[in-house]
Amino acid sequence: MQPYTADGLKDEIARRLQVDKGQKLEEASPKDVYYALASIVHGEIMPSWNKTQQKYKDKKAKQVYYLSMEFLIGSLIKSNLLNCGMLNQTIEALRKMGFHPEEIFAQEQDAALGNGGLGRLAACFLDSLSSLDYPGHGHGIRYRYGLFEQRIIHGNQVELPDYWLKDAYPWENRKEEEAILIHFRGEVHMFKKNDGSLEFKHENTDKVMAVPYDIPVVGYQNSTVNTLRLWSAEPYFPPEENEGQEDDFYHDLEHQHSIEQITGFLYPDDSNIEGKELRLKQQYFLVSSSIQNIIRQFKENYQLPLSRLPEKVVIQINDTHPSLGIPEMMRVLMDEENLSWDAAWKVTTGAFAYTNHTTLSEALETWPVEMTEGLLPRIYMIIHEINERFCRDLWFNHKEKREEIPQLAVIADGRVHMARLAIVGSFSVNGVARIHTEILKNQEMSGFYSLYPKKFNNKTNGITHRRWLLQANPGLAGLITDVIGPNWIRRPKQLISLMKYTKDRPLLEKFASAKQQNKQALANFIHQRTGIAVDPHSIFDVQIKRLHEYKRQLLNIFHVIYLYNELKDNPQLDVVPRTFIFGAKAAPSYYLAKEIIKLINTVASIVNYDKDVKDKLKVIFLENYNVSLAEKIIPAADISEQISTASKEASGTGNMKMMMNGALTIGTMDGANIEIHDLVGDDNMFIFGLSAEQVMDYYRHGGYSATDIYNTDDRVKRILDQLKLGEFGSQEIEFKDIYYNILSHNDPYFVLKDFEPYMEAHEIVERTYRDTYSWLQKSVTNIAYSGKFSSDHTIQQYATGIWNLKQFKEKE
Ligand SMILES: *Cc1c(COP(=O)(O)O)cnc(C)c1O
Repeated sequence: MQPYTADGLKDEIARRLQVDKGQKLEEASPKDVYYALASIVHGEIMPSWNKTQQKYKDKKAKQVYYLSMEFLIGSLIKSNLLNCGMLNQTIEALRKMGFHPEEIFAQEQDAALGNGGLGRLAACFLDSLSSLDYPGHGHGIRYRYGLFEQRIIHGNQVELPDYWLKDAYPWENRKEEEAILIHFRGEVHMFKKNDGSLEFKHENTDKVMAVPYDIPVVGYQNSTVNTLRLWSAEPYFPPEENEGQEDDFYHDLEHQHSIEQITGFLYPDDSNIEGKELRLKQQYFLVSSSIQNIIRQFKENYQLPLSRLPEKVVIQINDTHPSLGIPEMMRVLMDEENLSWDAAWKVTTGAFAYTNHTTLSEALETWPVEMTEGLLPRIYMIIHEINERFCRDLWFNHKEKREEIPQLAVIADGRVHMARLAIVGSFSVNGVARIHTEILKNQEMSGFYSLYPKKFNNKTNGITHRRWLLQANPGLAGLITDVIGPNWIRRPKQLISLMKYTKDRPLLEKFASAKQQNKQALANFIHQRTGIAVDPHSIFDVQIKRLHEYKRQLLNIFHVIYLYNELKDNPQLDVVPRTFIFGAKAAPSYYLAKEIIKLINTVASIVNYDKDVKDKLKVIFLENYNVSLAEKIIPAADISEQISTASKEASGTGNMKMMMNGALTIGTMDGANIEIHDLVGDDNMFIFGLSAEQVMDYYRHGGYSATDIYNTDDRVKRILDQLKLGEFGSQEIEFKDIYYNILSHNDPYFVLKDFEPYMEAHEIVERTYRDTYSWLQKSVTNIAYSGKFSSDHTIQQYATGIWNLKQFKEKE
């Protein structure tokens, strides 16, 4: 990519405004400037994009396709500028033109095509694939409405539609000529062919066009540009029916609308499946368009028999949502390409690899047989046959498994079990953190593990340090480069060199000052958004993630209420001032999660205006948590709250982002917290609470009583009674459902059980914070060890351990 100077950029922006809009620079709005800039960047990307794709074709490179219902890519303008090597010049150019660069960048709406961690992981993986020169692409859905926009009104979450396409999206290219036809419903007819084999014809189907929109995925200053291909559903107009078909205009409109609905919106549930037919339609729409596309490109570019497809193609499915890709590939290979069942099965199971993301029962996908069969009759036949053959194999070849067949069968209890389909149809099954993979192998999927021990493997999640450190925290990144040189940017594990400087006091001061500037910037942002002034020298104690009972925002707010009670009892108490910062969306149908949001906001509205605790305690709930907001909060965090009930959080990635930005973690031994602990040890984080074994033991054998804790711990009793008696609400028993959930349902997430150890851990946090020097040492230690959590490292492990994929080194 050709290097622009700041002045060159400035001229080019002015020129484009003139040519495209007939505008003078003085007349241009921030939005106009944003579009002019985006178009320049896109123009820079295009040649490398074409070249990269041509090279893959010419060299017949093996490629990975990452199939995911979610890609939470956020805003691309800054990361594209950074990866094109244009960010610094652009900032300078915009300043020279009299604009605030951040105001221009903020003109781009986040592409919120995901719920949370799972979708963000997919986005980080794409960034690493390109940055490491791997041939790897994403396939997803171009939802016209992304994750809802959250407003807080009188403490309650209100959801607004996220119409992110209302302004043109400058990064996408529509590729109408590569559209693919998708079939729903209809009937399947069976014929006997001359050679005696069976042929299946799927007829009278509802037809839908899948039109691809391609978004470039730009590698970090390496000229590699891969593709994120998002599919959009459109009506299909058969060419021969163009004339004399004006029969029913309104029927056609309705029909068109129902087709466009397939890619109309993202389901807003995180780790919780809504079993609606439209969701099943979305899933099949994604996999049918992707699989047909992959096979078409393979045939066009490789001139190899389809039996050799697994040498050139690997398909990673992000959770079970794209599992129907397995029977879809069988369908295409058998019905359209005339492969036998056995040949097709060999190809399919040689190409698919499955990533599991959760063991929560409410997130395990199953679909009713009638719904699956009605919507996808041919696919259902194939699933049925996969199941028959699998069960027969168990019965005859694994006699010790006969009893277990109902727990292993792909179809059981009138439902299709998507995780079982994914395991049976893939050559690899991976969990996303060490503990999570162990739980899969030894508990949740032990039946399959003993059957296929070699399929199971771990790939601990990661985050792209380019977005989450270089781009989001330029102050810290610049300081790191000053200290250890720039090599860590391409080799993030080299951050470990920072360990040589943890006793260098003047240097630690510089780290402190970088953090302080970020805290000041966040304090300004909070003031502008909420009107509340927070003390930038207080501890910024941050919990940002989807709202879920298992993530235990409730435990955090109980700690806040406890501190508030202490300060009310004794306003002179010597505490380190704290600012608690929350960001969290609840699924619109998740009642208790919304009650917890209301509780946090209610506590905030009392604490923030109480003169007794003034300057000592503030509670901030920032609405509409998304990628862009995360980029503002994370660089300013002192404390990272990672307090899920042990065994419940598969990995977490928010924990990694905050560690990399120098926050210290207070957390349970869950998910990747355990691997952070492996690296930095007890001295550099605050571990508390039940272990996963203890939690699972209580679930299995009982022995826990929330009521006992309520009756014996005065602090706990006081808090719960305040909820029940309405001290934190205008009406009596405002939060009675939270109260009853804990006491009548015996506190299913062990909030009360972990309360005491959590309070103690927070006391240690406070004591540690008072010793500034020691705190800074710990902070730098966390940054130094965080390189292991770069998604570059994770992607290297996928590439060598699952995909057998080579870095594409050839360059002109
Ligand atoms: C990283 C991220 C998440 C995942 O956070 P966890 O703490 O791992 O649950 C969710 N949403 C957004 C916007 C993120 O950037």
